[in-house]
Amino acid sequence: MIAENIQNIGKKLENACLQAGRNPKEVQLIAVSKTFGVDSISEALDAGCVDFGENYVQELVRKKELLKERNIRWHFIGHLQTNKVKYISEWVHLIHSVDSESVAREIHKRGEKLGRKIDVLIEVNTSRESTKFGVEAEKAHDLMRNVTAYSYVNLRGLMTIGPFTDDADQSRAAFRLLKSLFDEANSGGSLHQPLTILSMGMSHDYAIAIQEGSTMVRIGTAIFGARSQHLN
Ligand SMILES: *Cc1c(COP(=O)(O)O)cnc(C)c1O
Repeated sequence: MIAENIQNIGKKLENACLQAGRNPKEVQLIAVSKTFGVDSISEALDAGCVDFGENYVQELVRKKELLKERNIRWHFIGHLQTNKVKYISEWVHLIHSVDSESVAREIHKRGEKLGRKIDVLIEVNTSRESTKFGVEAEKAHDLMRNVTAYSYVNLRGLMTIGPFTDDADQSRAAFRLLKSLFDEANSGGSLHQPLTILSMGMSHDYAIAIQEGSTMVRIGTAIFGARSQHLN
C-alpha cells in the first residue's frame, strides 16, 4: 500500500514538474510520517524514501531511537519551542519552521556547543490564517537578516503551509508570495549565501506549489493514508 502510494506520488510529482517545465530532480519529496508508526516508516524506507518529516519533538526523538540503524534524514516541520531544540540539534537534517529570533538564537547556541552548523528554513505565514505559526510576510526579511547573524545557523530557504482550501487561486497566491520573498532575498545581496530551498506543497496542493517554484514538497496523507487524529 505505502510502496504503491510512493510510486504513484513519484509519478505525479514528475508529471507536475514536466507540465510546469521543470526538471523533476529539482523537487525533493519529504515523507511526512507524523502519527504513523515505525513499521510504516520502514515500508516507506524500503520503497526508496530517505527524507522524513515530523511535527512533534517527542514523537521524532522516539522514532529516531527506534530507527537508529536506518539511514534517514529527519526534517523537523512543526512548531519548535525553544526548550525542545536541544533534543534534536545533534542530528536533525533540516529545521523547516524557524519563526522567531529566539528559536534561532537557541539553535545557534546548541550548534556552537556541538560544533555543528544547523540547516534551517524560515517559516512564513503566507495566508494570514491566525491558527498558523510562521513569521508574517512583512517581517520575513528582518528575520532573515537577524537569523543569518548567527554563525551556527545556516539559513537555506523558506517554508510555508498553504491555506486549507480547495481554491487553487488562494493556494497559488500564498506560494507566489513565498517565492517573491525568496527572490527578493536572493537579489538583495544582504545574505551570506543564496537561499536555495523553497519548502511548499502538501498532499492537496503540491501541483500548484511546483508550478510556483517549490523545491521540497511535504507529503503525508498521499503516502501514509488519512491520519486518525487531526494534527496540523
Ligand atoms: C502534516 C503536515 C504536512 C503533510 O500534510 P498532508 O496533507 O498529509 O500531505 C506537511 N507539512 C506540514 C507542516 C504538516 O504539518
